[in-house]
Amino acid sequence: MRLENKKALVTGALRGIGKVIADLFIAQGAEVWGLDYKEPEDLADRVKAAGGKLHWITADLSELAAVEAKIDGGIKESGGFDILVNNAGITKDNLSFRMSLEEWQKVLDINLSAAFLAARTVGRDMIRKRTGSIINMASVVGIHGNGGQANYSASKAGLIAVTKCLAKETGSRSVRVNAVAPGFIATDMTAVLPDNVKGKMLEMVPLGRMGTADDVAAAVLFLASDDSSYITGQVLPVDGGMYT
Ligand code: NAP
Repeated sequence: MRLENKKALVTGALRGIGKVIADLFIAQGAEVWGLDYKEPEDLADRVKAAGGKLHWITADLSELAAVEAKIDGGIKESGGFDILVNNAGITKDNLSFRMSLEEWQKVLDINLSAAFLAARTVGRDMIRKRTGSIINMASVVGIHGNGGQANYSASKAGLIAVTKCLAKETGSRSVRVNAVAPGFIATDMTAVLPDNVKGKMLEMVPLGRMGTADDVAAAVLFLASDDSSYITGQVLPVDGGMYT
């Protein structure tokens, strides 16, 4: 039980990596507020399975003007979060020369701007309490870039910069801010890739397999827990050695 008595907010908790993180946190003793733009159809079952330790905030993170108020509502309801996982993210891939302004802006809004707003809203409360851990879900492409993903890569590079800035701003109040940079992870987001693209990407992975949501969640748990109490401002790759 590495998160006993902790309260965590996990964005994008409906499915994919976010759902696995929420479930792992609950298994480790935390009370979790999941946030997504719709409620899970099986919310009642999920809450029951979690022994009442799962709560839900419905919010569309692309509506930037409303993000801080939604998160503030969660802070009031929970009494304050010890952990924030900025996990929600989208892709709208296209070659830079064909990318519409809408494809650029939407990805930047959800992946970067909403995460920044959530981090500073929760961070403000953590600073007052002199404790907290914020984990931002970046990506290896935010470090190395990827053809067809200028919007997504820029959003994740920006999130890494925000991570480092916030870590410098909050460290003196014992609030830690880190990022996880997953590589090629088997979720709905990557299921849509053609087999030849998947094959080429796998050739780049020394561990010879796609990562799983469990692999990413384990790294997030480490950064959320006191096991990482002297680590802040860092980016932890979870990529099977893809870029070593
Ligand atoms: P996913 O399966 O597409 O799940 C993303 C979650 O975010 C979904 O629950 C989605 O809700 C939610 N979301 C999307 N837009 C939202 C909005 N406007 N407001 C609120 N919630 C919203 O993605 P994933 O693969 O689990 O990825 C999770 C994170 O890891 C993302 O930040 C992604 O960039 C990052 N990542 C993934 C990989 C990978 O290989 N999969 C690699 C590197 C980084 P809906 O279900 O309602 O759409």
